[in-house]
Amino acid sequence: MNYDALALFSGGLDSILAAKLMQSLGHKVLGLHFIIPFFGQQDQIQTWTLEYAIPIEGVDISHEYVQLLIDFPTYGFGQVLNPCVDCKVLMLRQAKALLSKYKASFIISGEVLGQRPMSQRTDALNIIRNQAGVRDVLLRPLSAGLLPPTPMEESGLVDRSRLLRINGRGRREQYALAKTLGITKIPAQSGGCRLAERESARRYWPVLRLCPEARLFEVANVGRQLWRRFDEEPSGHWLVVGRQHEDNERLLALSGPKDLQFTLKDFPGPLALAPYIAGLVWTDQILVEAAACLVSFAPKARTHRGPVDILVKQGQRESIIQVEPGSEHDFMPPLAWDKTREEQKLWSKGRDIWAGPDLEFTPGEVQEGAE
Ligand code: SF4
Repeated sequence: MNYDALALFSGGLDSILAAKLMQSLGHKVLGLHFIIPFFGQQDQIQTWTLEYAIPIEGVDISHEYVQLLIDFPTYGFGQVLNPCVDCKVLMLRQAKALLSKYKASFIISGEVLGQRPMSQRTDALNIIRNQAGVRDVLLRPLSAGLLPPTPMEESGLVDRSRLLRINGRGRREQYALAKTLGITKIPAQSGGCRLAERESARRYWPVLRLCPEARLFEVANVGRQLWRRFDEEPSGHWLVVGRQHEDNERLLALSGPKDLQFTLKDFPGPLALAPYIAGLVWTDQILVEAAACLVSFAPKARTHRGPVDILVKQGQRESIIQVEPGSEHDFMPPLAWDKTREEQKLWSKGRDIWAGPDLEFTPGEVQEGAE
């Protein structure tokens, strides 16, 4: 199917408004919903399509996004682990690459001038557009009247007089526009990006430093996260314990052939997954500690008098470990947020990263501006 425009569709109100506005002006729009371990809801696409009458495609960019984090985002992080400028550049590049597939001639984004301190200031909007290479094909219909005309407007393909001049953090104009466009279901304002949430960032941080791959960031979204620290130093051993049945199912689904799975042989209790990290050795001592940690989350096993059997599986191989309930172990939750932030700042320090011409903040440093 052919379209006139591809719209970045996050499911947030601005992305809905931008797509609906262009539809109302007679353009055929396809929404692109990007999916990575940190945001994106594949299971919502059908609901949105029906609710807003916008065809939407899910686009998985997990590997590209993880590579962006590994390479360190050129424009740094927002208040948490959110690399907003680089994130938008990546999404726009991906959208541009899809234009020919859908025979579309331009891209729409719901960005609003001045709405976000990091990525929606004029300088940041320019940098995003230029770095993504979408100067001639990107239209921001909600703020277009405040921005220089795009080739789509200059050529008459899009009627500039029908585009909007929304500016700033207020939402009044968006709500009025939603009413005009007949949108009754207004999504919650929170962006749904886990990279911007401290609790999620604490989970992601050790993964980013030790074993950054898309599957393992997915694992970091599940259950209790426990990392072994010995004499205050991280040893790199990671154990994920399901909190509920759905977590156990999810961990099984995400499990790789070299991961270790721990379950209680004779008692009800959670599943624990130890994701494989290349070069890391699980000694017998550490395996026993992991088994003891699992027992601590299983009430019936924890109060049992006598040793408890833990079944350990790795691919087709199985073995049994016996532990006494209450045995000590060194698995503990990830670092608190303030410590994580300190490490993040140390990580970014001294990086020689190109600074965009108009950028006021120093690229490569952790940014304090909220996104
Ligand atoms: S909040 Fe998250 S999804 Fe939004 S631009 Fe920033 S990093 Fe990307």
